[in-house]
Amino acid sequence: MWVSSLGRSPPWKEPRLDADPQAQLRLLELQASDTAVDRLAARRRSLPEIDEIRNLTARLSALAADLVAAETEGRDLGRAQTKLEGEVDAVRSRAARDQSRLDSGAVGSARELENLQSEIGSLGRRQGDLEEQLLEIMENAETAQATVDRLRAEQAEAEAARTAAEQRRDAAFSAIDAESAQTTERRTALAAELPAELVALYEKIRKSSGGIGAAGLVRRRCEGCHLEVGGSELREIAALPLERVLRHEDCRRILVRTEDSGLPA
Ligand SMILES: [Zn+2]
Repeated sequence: MWVSSLGRSPPWKEPRLDADPQAQLRLLELQASDTAVDRLAARRRSLPEIDEIRNLTARLSALAADLVAAETEGRDLGRAQTKLEGEVDAVRSRAARDQSRLDSGAVGSARELENLQSEIGSLGRRQGDLEEQLLEIMENAETAQATVDRLRAEQAEAEAARTAAEQRRDAAFSAIDAESAQTTERRTALAAELPAELVALYEKIRKSSGGIGAAGLVRRRCEGCHLEVGGSELREIAALPLERVLRHEDCRRILVRTEDSGLPA
């Protein structure tokens, strides 16, 4: 039953198909459902939350790395501080020992007295140096702690933002999936009512033509490619029986005559 529809392509390449005009019109409904499902899938893929979540995840992993570095620095400074405090204590107690020995009057020789006084003097200078270093370390530790606090706050903020974005994304997914399932169900029921050959041709064209397999002819325009159908093609269409399944010459999609085709009388 396959022969040329409009006679422009060789008959062996362009099989003829007849279908009830009402079935052809309902093919446009099938197309509308498929287009709706495709749009839902595209919306699902391009939800802004998907990018937002990806960016926040990248930000969180950068923050985690910065936090590890800041915490490590804080611990290193803490250890250095403890060590210095120990050294200051040792120097201070040695100076105190020297001082009490000096004060006890037990040191007899002038040479030993001189040595003790000299040692007390150098211990005092040493203590001053150590205390200066200690002060610097404590200041650095304070800065490191402030960095850790700031990073933790930023991390909590980014985590909360990501959780919120995930919730919005999941809600959008649910809504889209529900709508898509509903439309697909209607579409499946509709397809089952249409001639199998017509649906098969439609599916084949749809796959190779950007998702549009069938288009209405409305006011002399193909709604699939939006081109105006030429005068001679229109005259040929007008002469064909309504059952004939047409293909638009320009885009090769199934062209369905509508109430407002704009065909010459
Ligand atoms: Zn077209």
